[in-house]
Amino acid sequence: MTNENEIWEMAKVNLKELLGFSDISMNLWFGSMILKVLTEDTAYFQIENDFKQNIINTRYLDDIKKVMAEILGFEVRIVPISVEKDSFEARLAEVITKENEEKEPYEKKALSDAAPTQDNSFVSKEIKGENEGLSANVIISRNSPGFLPEYTFDNFVVGNSNKTAYTAARTVAKDPADAGLNPLFLHGDPGLGKTHLLYAITRELTSRRPESNLIFVKGEDFMNELIESLANKTPVAFREKYRNADMLIVDDIQFIAGKASVQEEFFHTFDKLYESGKQIVLSSDRPPKDMHQLEERLRSRFESGFTTDIQAPDLELRVAILKRKAQSLGINVPNDVLMYLGENIKENVRQIEGALKKMRALAYIQGEDISMEHAKVAVKDVLTNMAQAVTPAKILTYVSQKHGIPEEDIKSRKQTKDIKNARHIAVYLTRKLLDMPLASVGKLFNRDHTTIMSSIENVEKQIKASPAFDNAVNEMIREIKSGT
Ligand code: ADP
Ligand code: MG
Repeated sequence: MTNENEIWEMAKVNLKELLGFSDISMNLWFGSMILKVLTEDTAYFQIENDFKQNIINTRYLDDIKKVMAEILGFEVRIVPISVEKDSFEARLAEVITKENEEKEPYEKKALSDAAPTQDNSFVSKEIKGENEGLSANVIISRNSPGFLPEYTFDNFVVGNSNKTAYTAARTVAKDPADAGLNPLFLHGDPGLGKTHLLYAITRELTSRRPESNLIFVKGEDFMNELIESLANKTPVAFREKYRNADMLIVDDIQFIAGKASVQEEFFHTFDKLYESGKQIVLSSDRPPKDMHQLEERLRSRFESGFTTDIQAPDLELRVAILKRKAQSLGINVPNDVLMYLGENIKENVRQIEGALKKMRALAYIQGEDISMEHAKVAVKDVLTNMAQAVTPAKILTYVSQKHGIPEEDIKSRKQTKDIKNARHIAVYLTRKLLDMPLASVGKLFNRDHTTIMSSIENVEKQIKASPAFDNAVNEMIREIKSGT
């Protein structure tokens, strides 16, 4: 049996010919490249540094693919992995984890949940018939992640922190608009299962009442679609679509707050549906009373039905979720490892899944059973990913892009109004998000701590004075945290 090394050596002979390279060039680009892992569809190569990885990715991928196929008799993906910053094994674990996530589109989506999508082409797509197991006439917006079988009531692990939300969702799915839970308003921090429950409702209702016209839409897409319909002078079609729904589910409704025309439209849609006895279900990252920019009339409507929150899971629930997820990922996790994960990953369920997948990848690569060692690496990874998510540099870059002011200007002594505004915000966000001492913030911005103090006060004053500003700042915080 030929080993990886021989395969690659043979492929390189053909590659040299294909590229017409001298020995020196061959050696320069491919000399240190090692075929480390070959699976039935992918060849993972070790590359000595990021620079070469980049060159290979941009220039030679297709050629390598071609010569590998000549030797193997079948095509494989070529994945060069630089070991400049970490060991091959560690990097491979990362790559595989990422690939797995990408294979699971709803999860990939979930990771970037709070991130506003860049895709503004929000044409709705009607999904009819057998699409991914949905049988009814459901309209979901194109950016929605699709209905994977995982998001069902059965797969939702129930505990103290989510019991009320779960029960309410089940009830609505059973007796929409009859159960006195109209509208149903679910709120809670990201990653705690809101979207999961909304999908579960959708799934159950569409199989039970295939004839009904259920619309599931993300708040953001509702907004974008409306703006687009106005731009295209087709608001009537937009209106008809939403006002003729038998049930309307809006995920992340907080996106509509702050935009007057969108709130206006939503208000009328809401009233029309509500008066015709149609069920409305909404989710949000915060309760109506904390949606500062929401019009009063909408707030009172949101609060007029049944409002409940989902809290972070307690230890018992975390362990139960871990067990369930491990099972569905098909991995065997010893009890002490489950406990360790449960005790260390507390904030959100998405992280729990992330840690399990990381462990799976590590164990897979090392050809071992999952152990405490893997758990420690996975936990560290998940938690540092979170902690590292926000850095002063990131905040600066973010504010610079958002305001269109170069980073140097923000840090400079320049005093034009725009620059000063951007500086105040950057200072405020740095202090608020990183909880740094004033003096340290001062160092970052070349200012003394009284100047820093007055920047912060300036922003706080504006927040108090203007709900719009408050909302804008909250949005920035969300975007920075979610890494966009
Ligand atoms: P949110 O919409 O609140 O940000 P999601 O519904 O996207 O959160 O949940 C994040 C991930 O965690 C999803 O993969 C979801 O299936 C999972 N999840 C959350 N809560 C639970 C639970 N109680 N049981 C099983 N999986 C859960
Ligand atoms: Mg969600």
